[in-house]
Parts: sequence; C-alpha cells; structure tokens
Amino acid sequence: MFNKILIANRGEIALRILRACREMDIKTVAVHSTADVDAMHVRLADESVCVGPNAAAQSYLNIPAIITACELTGAEAIHPGYGFLSENANFAQIVAEHGLTFIGPTAEHIRLMGDKIAAKDTMRRLGVPCVPGSDGAVTDPKKALKVADEIGFPVLVKAASGGGGRGMKVAATRDDLAEAMSTARAEAKAAFGDDSVYLEKYLSLPRHIEVQVVADSHGNVVHLGERDCSLQRRHQKVLEEAPSPALTQAQRDEIGEIVVAAVKEMGYLGVGTIEFLYEGGRFYFIEMNTRLQVEHPVTEAIYSVDLVREQIRIASGEKLSFKQKDLVARGHAIECRINAENPRTFAPSPGEVKSFHAPGGLGVRMDSAIYNGYRIPPYYDSLIGKLIVHGENRQECVMRMRRAIAETVVDGVESTTLLFHKIGVDPDFVNGDYHIHWLERWLAQMDD
Ligand code: ADP
Repeated sequence: MFNKILIANRGEIALRILRACREMDIKTVAVHSTADVDAMHVRLADESVCVGPNAAAQSYLNIPAIITACELTGAEAIHPGYGFLSENANFAQIVAEHGLTFIGPTAEHIRLMGDKIAAKDTMRRLGVPCVPGSDGAVTDPKKALKVADEIGFPVLVKAASGGGGRGMKVAATRDDLAEAMSTARAEAKAAFGDDSVYLEKYLSLPRHIEVQVVADSHGNVVHLGERDCSLQRRHQKVLEEAPSPALTQAQRDEIGEIVVAAVKEMGYLGVGTIEFLYEGGRFYFIEMNTRLQVEHPVTEAIYSVDLVREQIRIASGEKLSFKQKDLVARGHAIECRINAENPRTFAPSPGEVKSFHAPGGLGVRMDSAIYNGYRIPPYYDSLIGKLIVHGENRQECVMRMRRAIAETVVDGVESTTLLFHKIGVDPDFVNGDYHIHWLERWLAQMDD
C-alpha cells in the first residue's frame, strides 16, 4: 500500500479523496493554485504545494508542476479526482513514465474511451447495445444526409472528443443537418481542438442511466447497479439517484452482466461508468467515463462501499474487497448538486460565504469544502456541495431530501438550494416520472 498520495484536484472531491486516505492511514499532499491557498483541502492535507496561479490551465492542469510536487514530497501515487486531468491519457502516461502510480485506468483505456467513436465501436463489438448512428466520423454533408435518412430524423451531431455536453447539435429535419454539422464542428474544434463529428439517432424522451463498474488487476470485475441521472440542465446533471425508479431487478441484472462481460474483455482497470440512454425498455450506450463520477456517493450509499478506497486498493495491486454476490443494494439514495449560482438564471455567484450550515441526522451526507468566511473563487466550476440522502425506500428518501434541504443554509452567495426545495415536492419527481428533458421544461414553466 502507498505511504503518500498526491491529490491533483480541489474542492469537495479533493476532500473526499483526502478522507479516504486518512482512514487508510495514507499521508496526503494537496496541490493548489494561488487562489486556493485558504481552501479546505489545503488546510486538511498533511502537506501542500502551490502549483501555479489562479487559472486552472496554469495550476490544476499544469502537468510539470504536479509531477514536480510529487517528486518534492515523495508522494508515490496521484489521484486525479474528476474533471481537470482525470481523463487526460497523456497525463496518465507521464505519471507512469516517472515511476509513479496513476490512480485510475491505463493511458490506453483512457485514450480509447476518450474518443467516442472508437469507444462506441469497441462497445458494439463487445456486445453492448448502442444508439443507432454513423459508422465512425462523417465530414461530407451528402454522406451525412444519407446516414441520417437511414437512421431517421431527428439526428444528433456529436463531437468525437466531446464532453460536458459541448459539441452537440440536433438536426430536426434534412434542412437543418448541414448547419448542425458546421456548428458542432466549429464548437468541437474550439473546445477540444478536434472537429471530428458523428451522427446518432436523437432519442426523444430517454432517461440517462449509467452503470458503475469496478475492476482489479486480478481479473475480478463487478458492477454496482445503476444511477439515474436524467435530471439535467444543458446536458449537465443536477440531481442523481440510485437505483433508477424506471428499472426492474431483472433489467438491472441483465445490463449489469453485459457491462461486466465487456469490461472484463477490455482488460479494464479501476472504476468506470458506462453511460446509457434508456427508452422504450431498451438501453443504448453513449459513452464510458474512465474515472470516479461526481455522483458516485449515491452508489456508495446503497451498497455500503467506499469507491475511493477501492480505487486506491486496486491501484496498489490489491484485490477488490467484495465479490458480485456480496453486493446487495439496500434502500434508495439521492444526490443534489448544490452550485453557487442563481437558482433561476444559473449565473455563477462567487464571493464570500457569510454563513454555511450543513444538514445532519440519519441518512444524510454532505460532501462540501466550503466553510464560514470562505471566499468562493470565480475561476473554477460552481459546485459547492453535494447533499446525499439515503432511505429505506424512495419515498423515505424523498422526505429526507426535503428535510435536509430545508436545514441547509448558504448565506452570502446565491445557491441552487432553492431549486431542490421545489423539485422535492413536484408530483412527477415524487413519482419518479421524468426523462432527460423534464427539468428544462419544468424550469421554463417556472419562468412563465
Ligand atoms: P458528454 O460527454 O458531452 O456529456 P454524452 O454523450 O454523455 O456527452 O451525452 C450527454 C447528454 O446528452 C446525455 O445525458 C443526454 O441527455 C444527451 N444525449 C446524448 N446523446 C443523445 C442521443 N442520441 N439522443 C438524445 N439525447 C442525447
């Protein structure tokens, strides 16, 4: 096992990793930008190193500085968290070349799954059901039209290197396709430096359902059921729950087995999430995330496991601490992503947190790195806390979410807490009856 781990991240996830390390008696090194000198992850770590100025490109994404920080402090492994360098194959490779351990999959797997076209190809070959679409990239508008006619409109133009919902454009009819392609390509080029796009059937009212997998270096692969992440705004998740209110146990077992077989065949290592759209009782693969997800705690709640601990164990060569048959889900869990944003316009609201009170009590977990008097810097994403509630069943869980949200106080900056007050009492939400467009339509109604 490692003696010292460097955490190449900030905010709640840096704290999440630090907590797992401390419980495993592993020393921690925090890295930070100049803006984050007073951040909680820096305060709580055993050691810290400033890796650059405010801009993430010069600090949290500064590979030479992070490697140097490792060498200076004697950290043997790097946990990248999510975002920043977590899905950067070059970083994973450089870490390995320096004789350090990247806590995550191999650079090859990150690269393969980072190219969504190659990922879809691989999954199709391994028997995972995919969204109907083009065979690989399309550049010629005439060819694109032919493919789109075959799969049927509306179609979605997607960037091969896409992420965070960027580089995605819907073409409702034949007339819209050329423009959707040029907009998606321009957006992809600007955001990812790669303008390859592909076509997919645009599913009208699907749910977003993703399956959590974990694989060790001894050939053991297990799944930990699914998370339903259909409550989204601009393709970004807002609230997640596990299990999905839409699946039966038989469907869960079936998709879980398909995913485990594919991941085993790939020789994948570490935690991973296979994302699907689910419509009309069928699953359609969209992408695989080769890292820990923001929403991992809902899975931890229902399976009583510590996924970060497993990641660290796996990276150090140990076996998974559970087998598929040991994994029995209990109850229901919901996560609310609390952002420092205006709850109606979603404009970021950085600044000083005058007062923060986290809810508590049975079945409540708050993952947050803010504190009274903390100044939320304007340079990074606006997530300030994740409220995770767990109950014996979905009904109890929804009641617990309402009361925990009511206890939450964030003063001084605006936050999306108010949004969850309202979602929590909506009849569709209470019945688990929603899809990926539900939240945007609901928000539009609110504005009327
Ligand atoms: P990203 O990597 O940018 O997050 P994804 O492929 O994971 O992109 O898709 C993000 C979201 O976009 C999905 O959760 C879903 O809401 C929507 N989406 C993606 N593909 C389709 C599709 N074929 N039909 C309808 N919606 C889609």
